[in-house]
Amino acid sequence: MRKRIVAGNWKMNTDVAAGVKLAIELMQLLIEKPAPENVGVAIAPPFTHLSEVNKVIDPAKICLAAQNCASESNGAYTGEVAVGMLRSVGVMAIIIGHSERRAYFKEDHATLAKKVDLTIKNQLRPIFCCGEVLDERNAGIQNNIVENQLMESLFHLNNEDFLRVSIAYEPVWAIGTGVVATPDQAQEMHKFIRSLVAARYGAEIAEQLTILYGGSCKSSNAVEIFSKPDVDGGLIGGAALDAAEFHRIVQSF
Ligand code: PEP
Repeated sequence: MRKRIVAGNWKMNTDVAAGVKLAIELMQLLIEKPAPENVGVAIAPPFTHLSEVNKVIDPAKICLAAQNCASESNGAYTGEVAVGMLRSVGVMAIIIGHSERRAYFKEDHATLAKKVDLTIKNQLRPIFCCGEVLDERNAGIQNNIVENQLMESLFHLNNEDFLRVSIAYEPVWAIGTGVVATPDQAQEMHKFIRSLVAARYGAEIAEQLTILYGGSCKSSNAVEIFSKPDVDGGLIGGAALDAAEFHRIVQSF
């Protein structure tokens, strides 16, 4: 049975003290009521918080993730944070290609491919984001957009390396908007993604791939979305900033 994951993307929210408090609250809730069997929990705080948050979480209960990484391994890249640095503070997974990185920081397919490669080279796990904007969905070209994103930044990986990847389908029109994809829209795209992976890597690897849904996911809609056969969990933004709400989403399987 493939792994289910609920991952929280805190984005640029909380200071270190508030972030540590949020992580402690979540730990407490997971001790009182652990995640269902086969469901992994991850949180991606801002870079500044990682070291302190790592001290208050049990890695058996919460996987520490980062929201981004540099596309180079070290050197004269002022302001950047390398994968090796993230690894050194306990990070296990890295969100790569979030739509906010693509849109606001102009991250292109080639840059994202380099980040994926460095993440894997450092034995961490990429959570690779893909998804179309509203105009693309309205034009009916969402499948082409997502296929291109996967082809350009992920499908150069060999089989062994691809096994370290999780994919998050995040329709951009649903992120932070309160407009959630319908469970059927999510299922349709997840099934399409799995079919692309099957064509590239074979049915067995496609079956093992964890595909998360992201975009205005909350405890009030998670049960229905997570019940779809190709939806293996969620990448959660706003709702991850409330420990009790995030914990309810974890319990939604
Ligand atoms: C996200 O940014 O990855 C996300 C899914 O945000 P939200 O849940 O707030 O829509």
